[in-house]
Amino acid sequence: MINNHINVSSDKCIGCRNCELICNCGAVKFKTDTEGFLIPVIDEKKCLHCGKCIKVCCIEADERKVETNQQKAYIAISKNKRLYKRSASGGIFSTIAYDFLSENEGAVVCGAAFSSGEVCHIIIRNVDEISLLQGSKYVQSNLNSVFQEIKQYLISNKRVLFCGTPCQVYALKLFLKGKYSNLFTIDLICHGVPSPGFLRKDIESYTDYKKVEDIQFRKKNPLFESKSGFFFTIDSKEIPKRKNRIMITSSRDPYFSMFMNGLTFRKACYQCQFANLNRVGDITIGDCDSASYYPKFHPEAATSTVILNSQKGRYLWEGSKKSIDFCHLDLVRESENNHQLSYPFKQPEKRVNIYDEINNTEIDILRNKYAKKRNFKERIIIILFFLLPQKFLRKWIRTK
Ligand SMILES: Cc1cc2nc3c(=O)[nH]c(=O)nc-3n(C[C@H](O)[C@H](O)[C@H](O)COP(=O)(O)OP(=O)(O)OC[C@H]3O[C@@H](n4cnc5c(N)ncnc54)[C@H](O)[C@@H]3O)c2cc1C
Repeated sequence: MINNHINVSSDKCIGCRNCELICNCGAVKFKTDTEGFLIPVIDEKKCLHCGKCIKVCCIEADERKVETNQQKAYIAISKNKRLYKRSASGGIFSTIAYDFLSENEGAVVCGAAFSSGEVCHIIIRNVDEISLLQGSKYVQSNLNSVFQEIKQYLISNKRVLFCGTPCQVYALKLFLKGKYSNLFTIDLICHGVPSPGFLRKDIESYTDYKKVEDIQFRKKNPLFESKSGFFFTIDSKEIPKRKNRIMITSSRDPYFSMFMNGLTFRKACYQCQFANLNRVGDITIGDCDSASYYPKFHPEAATSTVILNSQKGRYLWEGSKKSIDFCHLDLVRESENNHQLSYPFKQPEKRVNIYDEINNTEIDILRNKYAKKRNFKERIIIILFFLLPQKFLRKWIRTK
């Protein structure tokens, strides 16, 4: 019999789990591969070769037609200081989510959270839960069966806002066959996702993974509450000495520094079909990489790029723009500076064997090899940070 099912060995699999969700006979199950990513495994004995899994597979994305000349782009920042403070960049996601939940009765929002020991997509129903979804989690988020839940909300005429990587937004639309006018989507500018397996190994080098309550990858600078710094924080009651929190500069952590250098992304990320201006979400958000061209626009803050791609995107924006400070952004220049809007991250040569090395090497050896040690100047700054009054320090850093 001809195998009428998805190609499980493909390096293009994005791990969306659509094939597992659609399969009525339980022939597709997701398992962790040697790199620590979830991949589909087919039970040939159960497979009926109906081909349904092929129809919802994202390996070859269909031609999409965003009218790029209709796109509107802004450099933007939330006016809501509380929402801004916990966000990765300008707090645009949480501001839109807040208005969406407040203004649409019964509406829900779906995004990535650290929940039950993993980064996964969850659904929230009220504004008090927005903090769970805020902040970038630099790891592949497990979608579990959240698309099925979203479908139920849509069928019962509830409005749903979904935020995720562009491949996840594409997967959701494919799963739903593009049917629902009450679905709104935000895609992230994304350069790739590393494996949950490696994240776990890294966290275990600091504390007991099972007891971790929260992780964060970015924090607004504690001195200015403005630009976001790349700090890896792990919260757990197992860390009593330091107020239940470990905070590591990204460059000093092997997982984070290898992520920043693009060494550990899922293989499909290096061939990403969404790393261009032909966006799949109603709105696209990311870090504004051409912010220096707008020196008067919140010069000390972390600002976001916002691209409105569709009628629904413009509708969401109209509902939230009162809560956002923004000005027009030159999208051509932004896409030249923010490469993920032009082409995927180029696969480094080292990527080929990187997970063999990760699997067979002690984390401290990886730390010595890939993470940076603090130099003399950095040590002095840290000592000053604790010794000097913050007011004085702020002034000194500004002059530098
Ligand atoms: C893996 C990853 C790579 C990224 N790479 C880039 C890049 O190269 N260039 C760039 O300009 N921006 C990138 N971003 C986007 C950037 O980090 C911010 O998320 C974005 O600027 C939005 O910030 P915000 O302050 O509006 O929202 P935030 O409050 O930070 O929240 C953003 C949203 O991201 C969702 N999210 C968080 N983690 C994940 C995840 N692992 N998978 C799916 N969804 C998630 C949350 O659910 C939330 O809805 C990346 C984000 C991620 C998660």
